[in-house]
Amino acid sequence: MTFPATRSVGESRSDRNKEQLVTRIEKACVDKGLRMTDQRRVIARVLSDAADHPDAEELYRRASAIDPHISIATVYRTVKLFEDAGILERHDFRDGRSRYEEVQEAHHDHLIDVATGSVIEFRNEEIEKLQRRVAEELGFELIDHRLELYGVPKGRKPPTS
Ligand SMILES: [Zn+2]
Repeated sequence: MTFPATRSVGESRSDRNKEQLVTRIEKACVDKGLRMTDQRRVIARVLSDAADHPDAEELYRRASAIDPHISIATVYRTVKLFEDAGILERHDFRDGRSRYEEVQEAHHDHLIDVATGSVIEFRNEEIEKLQRRVAEELGFELIDHRLELYGVPKGRKPPTS
């Protein structure tokens, strides 16, 4: 039995629970003892709104559209801060850029379209179960995992690197 993807690329997280997420990321900052400056709040908001795993430069573009005084250095510092605080997850999808997304309560995995670079989020209960079983058979209790699938749309040739 297969399970459909839980979310497609185009769907914005902000449509569903923007307020909740902003509150959550800000609350997480307070809990971790981070001072929430206006600029950090803007970056937090941009991150909450993003559904596409942006890199630092893309975050900078979006944040500086809201507050032109934000510098790329501030974006780099802030994402590092958020990452160290466990609020933000950093991904390396093999395109040479670090991509960021807010740590989600619900786990998901990623499929990367190497033809376009777009990232599709999915969750498959069979895979989840299988991974736990593999760990168990090796004498472990699974506490975390990362799964990245790389592909091209059917019928399309992989790009030559
Ligand atoms: Zn994701």
